Amino acid sequence: MTNKYMIFVANWKMFGGLNSLNSLRKVVKFLKNFKKNNLIKIVYCPPNTLIRPMTKKLRKSKIEVGAQNCHENNDYGAFTGSVNSKMLKSVGAKYVIIGHSENRQAGEKDKLINIKIKSALKSGLKVIFCIGETIQQKRKKITKQILNKQIQIGLNKIANKKKILIAYEPVWSIGTGLIPQSKELFNTIDFIKKKIGNLKVLYGGSVNPKNVTELKSIDNIDGFLVGGASQDAKKFIDIIKKTYN
Ligand code: PEP
Repeated sequence: MTNKYMIFVANWKMFGGLNSLNSLRKVVKFLKNFKKNNLIKIVYCPPNTLIRPMTKKLRKSKIEVGAQNCHENNDYGAFTGSVNSKMLKSVGAKYVIIGHSENRQAGEKDKLINIKIKSALKSGLKVIFCIGETIQQKRKKITKQILNKQIQIGLNKIANKKKILIAYEPVWSIGTGLIPQSKELFNTIDFIKKKIGNLKVLYGGSVNPKNVTELKSIDNIDGFLVGGASQDAKKFIDIIKKTYN
């Protein structure tokens, strides 16, 4: 039985319209009635278009809202199509995911991620900093080297890390149904924690109501970043329930 404080982040990716917000009612009700709700933090990261209406829908609940990325520039500027951390904060976001592998694969580099993290912190957002190795890097057995580089550069010259959560997300696990072996995952998270000190480390990659029973037994995990399964309120609730079963 888990009796530990755990963080559950829902990453909706590029899914959802205004009508998707109706599903939140179930989650709000569940959280209100859940006996261990004082142990749980839920953060929903919808597309930017839904941040404001979602914040309004959730204003009477403990659930917080975050964004999925931000532009690195702290000021307004001529960056067509972009949104910066200050703008996200102004519409109610409290968190922002930075360094997600889907953005890294689209060309986002560690140095840019570092600038984005600094900008988000400056705007008063908490940061969910994603790191993780690709399948090729895993096969070459350079996972630790890669994570070390992502951490070193991503967190370079950030003295106060209190508002940063790490999300360890092996790229080969995202959206594939595959998860690391428990022992391997424990060791990797242990490695990350030794590098970054006191920060909380979430696991992300194909978390679902079935495999969460295995994942929750890995006791250095501080929560889960859930992609696909978080778009279905029932599955997301089941993940939380089973974590505490
Ligand atoms: C993610 O997008 O961060 C993620 C973990 O996705 P999924 O749960 O679908 O693998």
